[in-house]
Amino acid sequence: MKKMILTTGGLGFIGSHTVVDLLNEGYDVCIIDNLSNSHIEVLSYIQQITGKMPKFYQGDVRDNALLEKVFSENDISAVIHFAALKAVAESVVKPLLYYEVNIDGTIAILKAMQKHHVHNIIFSSSATVYGDPKVLPCTEDTPIGEIKNPYGETKLINEMLIKDFVKANEGMHAILLRYFNPIGAHASGLIGEDPKDIPNNLVPYILRVAAKKIDHLTVFGDDYDTPDGSCIRDYIHVCDLAHGHVLAIKKILTIEEPLKIYNLGTGKGTSVLELVNAFKKVNHIDLPYVIGPRRAGDATASYASIDLAQKELGFAPKFSVEDALKDAYHFLIKHEEGSKN
Ligand code: NAD
Ligand code: UDP
Repeated sequence: MKKMILTTGGLGFIGSHTVVDLLNEGYDVCIIDNLSNSHIEVLSYIQQITGKMPKFYQGDVRDNALLEKVFSENDISAVIHFAALKAVAESVVKPLLYYEVNIDGTIAILKAMQKHHVHNIIFSSSATVYGDPKVLPCTEDTPIGEIKNPYGETKLINEMLIKDFVKANEGMHAILLRYFNPIGAHASGLIGEDPKDIPNNLVPYILRVAAKKIDHLTVFGDDYDTPDGSCIRDYIHVCDLAHGHVLAIKKILTIEEPLKIYNLGTGKGTSVLELVNAFKKVNHIDLPYVIGPRRAGDATASYASIDLAQKELGFAPKFSVEDALKDAYHFLIKHEEGSKN
């Protein structure tokens, strides 16, 4: 029988690509999303890509009546909990909102799982828990670093609360996935990263500049201790990241251990300036930028060791940074065309 996977935040950037991969791999999928950072059209794009329509419930993961409905109507094998607020700068200004949505949301999901005997949860964590790592690459045993904003704190608190939850509830399993920097878009150009507000993240910002909605990019610092002075990150194509979730689903449905943690990245570091130049080269466009001051709280360099995910999940990213930047631009062009029609 087909397994039903509940994805919270399944219309968002990472969620939508994961839903596509799950449907293509033969899973049934239901989605809870309140559309606070996504668009309802994504649902029909998912159908266009896969030929299948996931079940959709519009609403907040903290709405217990909604959770009761979703968990009663579906025989859920596992939950992938993406839904959260994720804008670092906003979290500094609105910490209570971030703690409320990101922590209460997870507690509500865990309570519903407990009540309805759903035993498996995969959680969207982040490399932000490593802070500014002293030794690279980051393995899952790299010590938790200094976290410099409320968003990052919510990821760490969620990790702790899920750990305590599985410890206290026999038979529960959790996989914490620590994402590095997801970029890119589905090759169809139908789904990609489309934040509702002015983006903080590098590639969505680059896309706004490429679309001439913002006149230039500011590179936050070129005086770091790296070969070209700009910060280094591990940029992973969102389709590779999405596939990591399918592999984690396969794993969680068979594991004995209550808790596993995996890094999902590529294992390779790319600097901001390398990324900007790669974007220009693969898309044959200019991208005006200036060098600005450092952004407070930025790590100098962060990239993953993915040995554990490779060994235990069979995780093997297929796409390069260049592929991801091409797909991101293709998504932009397609959307620009769409909005003109
Ligand atoms: P996103 O904002 O594109 O997707 C999140 C989705 O959740 C959106 O569709 C939004 O409408 C929905 N949502 C938010 N709050 C909700 C609520 N209370 N109830 C129901 N739905 C809600 O973000 P994303 O980039 O796809 O990130 C998914 C997850 O991965 C998040 O937990 C994020 O913190 C984590 N993460 C993202 C990155 C990244 O760089 N994108 C890196 C590390 C971790
Ligand atoms: N960055 C930049 N200009 C921008 C946005 C980001 O130079 O307008 C840099 C940022 O300093 C960091 C890298 O790009 O070194 C990735 O930033 P992002 O916010 O995308 O991810 P994170 O810092 O969370 O890894």
